[in-house]
Amino acid sequence: MPKAKCRECGKTFEYTWGAVNCPECEVRIRRIFKDVKNYLWDNPGASEAIVCEKFGISRHVINDWLRNDKIQISENSDIVLRCEKCGAEILSGHYCSKCQKEVDGTSVHGTFMGKEEKAEMRYLDRKK
Ligand SMILES: [Zn+2]
Ligand SMILES: [Zn+2]
Repeated sequence: MPKAKCRECGKTFEYTWGAVNCPECEVRIRRIFKDVKNYLWDNPGASEAIVCEKFGISRHVINDWLRNDKIQISENSDIVLRCEKCGAEILSGHYCSKCQKEVDGTSVHGTFMGKEEKAEMRYLDRKK
Protein backbone atom coordinates (compact mmCIF):
# COMPACT_ATOMS: atom_id res chain seq x y z
CA MET A 1 0.00 0.00 0.00
CA PRO A 2 1.34 3.43 -0.85
CA LYS A 3 1.75 5.86 2.01
CA ALA A 4 0.58 9.45 2.11
CA LYS A 5 1.05 12.24 4.59
CA CYS A 6 -2.08 13.52 6.27
CA ARG A 7 -2.77 17.13 5.35
CA GLU A 8 -4.24 17.84 8.75
CA CYS A 9 -2.03 16.11 11.32
CA GLY A 10 1.01 15.22 9.23
CA LYS A 11 0.82 11.54 10.12
CA THR A 12 1.52 8.98 7.42
CA PHE A 13 -1.37 6.75 6.49
CA GLU A 14 -2.20 4.15 3.88
CA TYR A 15 -3.17 6.05 0.79
CA THR A 16 -6.48 5.41 -0.86
CA TRP A 17 -7.38 7.20 -4.07
CA GLY A 18 -8.20 10.85 -3.54
CA ALA A 19 -7.54 10.80 0.21
CA VAL A 20 -5.75 13.83 1.60
CA ASN A 21 -6.35 13.17 5.28
CA CYS A 22 -5.76 10.14 7.46
CA PRO A 23 -8.91 8.18 8.42
CA GLU A 24 -8.93 9.66 11.93
CA CYS A 25 -8.87 13.22 10.63
CA GLU A 26 -11.54 12.39 8.07
CA VAL A 27 -13.81 11.23 10.86
CA ARG A 28 -12.94 14.26 12.99
CA ILE A 29 -13.54 16.69 10.12
CA ARG A 30 -16.85 15.09 9.23
CA ARG A 31 -17.90 15.27 12.86
CA ILE A 32 -17.13 18.97 13.32
CA PHE A 33 -18.56 20.03 9.98
CA LYS A 34 -21.99 20.68 11.45
CA ASP A 35 -20.49 22.72 14.30
CA VAL A 36 -18.50 24.85 11.88
CA LYS A 37 -21.56 25.37 9.73
CA ASN A 38 -23.61 26.44 12.72
CA TYR A 39 -20.81 28.66 13.93
CA LEU A 40 -20.60 30.41 10.57
CA TRP A 41 -24.36 30.79 10.58
CA ASP A 42 -24.22 32.53 13.96
CA ASN A 43 -21.03 34.46 13.18
CA PRO A 44 -21.24 35.39 9.52
CA GLY A 45 -18.19 37.64 9.73
CA ALA A 46 -15.94 35.06 11.38
CA SER A 47 -12.42 35.11 10.03
CA GLU A 48 -10.74 32.06 8.60
CA ALA A 49 -7.99 32.15 11.24
CA ILE A 50 -10.54 32.13 14.05
CA VAL A 51 -12.55 29.26 12.56
CA CYS A 52 -9.37 27.23 11.99
CA GLU A 53 -8.17 27.82 15.52
CA LYS A 54 -11.53 27.27 17.17
CA PHE A 55 -12.14 23.95 15.47
CA GLY A 56 -8.57 22.77 15.02
CA ILE A 57 -8.78 22.44 11.26
CA SER A 58 -6.58 23.80 8.49
CA ARG A 59 -7.78 26.22 5.85
CA HIS A 60 -7.60 23.33 3.38
CA VAL A 61 -10.66 21.89 5.06
CA ILE A 62 -12.56 25.16 4.83
CA ASN A 63 -11.46 25.42 1.20
CA ASP A 64 -12.81 21.98 0.43
CA TRP A 65 -16.16 22.81 2.01
CA LEU A 66 -16.38 26.06 0.10
CA ARG A 67 -15.49 24.35 -3.13
CA ASN A 68 -18.15 21.71 -2.64
CA ASP A 69 -20.72 24.35 -1.65
CA LYS A 70 -21.04 22.78 1.77
CA ILE A 71 -20.63 26.07 3.57
CA GLN A 72 -21.63 29.54 2.55
CA ILE A 73 -19.58 32.57 3.43
CA SER A 74 -21.00 36.04 3.78
CA GLU A 75 -19.43 38.98 1.99
CA ASN A 76 -17.99 40.54 5.11
CA SER A 77 -16.01 37.43 6.03
CA ASP A 78 -12.36 37.14 5.13
CA ILE A 79 -12.79 33.45 4.37
CA VAL A 80 -11.99 32.95 0.73
CA LEU A 81 -11.31 30.12 -1.61
CA ARG A 82 -7.61 29.77 -2.29
CA CYS A 83 -5.47 28.29 -5.02
CA GLU A 84 -4.26 24.86 -3.94
CA LYS A 85 -0.79 25.54 -5.29
CA CYS A 86 0.11 29.11 -4.41
CA GLY A 87 -2.67 30.19 -2.04
CA ALA A 88 -3.90 33.09 -4.17
CA GLU A 89 -7.55 34.08 -3.77
CA ILE A 90 -9.80 32.47 -6.35
CA LEU A 91 -13.53 32.51 -7.02
CA SER A 92 -14.06 28.91 -8.00
CA GLY A 93 -12.30 25.69 -8.89
CA HIS A 94 -9.00 24.54 -7.44
CA TYR A 95 -6.30 26.78 -8.89
CA CYS A 96 -5.68 30.39 -9.85
CA SER A 97 -5.37 31.10 -13.57
CA LYS A 98 -1.57 30.97 -13.37
CA CYS A 99 -1.43 27.58 -11.66
CA GLN A 100 -4.32 26.29 -13.77
CA LYS A 101 -2.09 26.74 -16.81
CA GLU A 102 0.62 24.62 -15.19
CA VAL A 103 -1.92 21.97 -14.24
CA ASP A 104 -3.37 21.98 -17.76
CA GLY A 105 0.14 21.49 -19.09
CA THR A 106 0.46 18.30 -17.07
CA SER A 107 -2.93 16.97 -18.09
CA VAL A 108 -2.21 17.65 -21.78
CA HIS A 109 0.81 15.40 -21.35
CA GLY A 110 -1.47 12.81 -19.78
CA THR A 111 -3.85 12.94 -22.74
CA PHE A 112 -0.94 12.49 -25.10
CA MET A 113 0.14 9.36 -23.23
CA GLY A 114 -3.41 8.09 -23.42
CA LYS A 115 -3.49 8.51 -27.18
CA GLU A 116 -0.26 6.59 -27.55
CA GLU A 117 -1.68 3.76 -25.54
CA LYS A 118 -4.82 3.67 -27.66
CA ALA A 119 -2.74 3.58 -30.82
CA GLU A 120 -0.89 0.61 -29.48
CA MET A 121 -4.17 -1.13 -28.60
CA ARG A 122 -5.36 -0.70 -32.19
CA TYR A 123 -2.08 -2.14 -33.43
CA LEU A 124 -2.54 -5.19 -31.23
CA ASP A 125 -6.13 -5.58 -32.43
CA ARG A 126 -4.99 -5.64 -36.02
CA LYS A 127 -2.44 -8.31 -35.32
CA LYS A 128 -5.10 -10.70 -34.00
ZN1 LIG B 1 -4.53 13.10 10.23
ZN1 LIG C 1 -2.00 29.58 -7.84
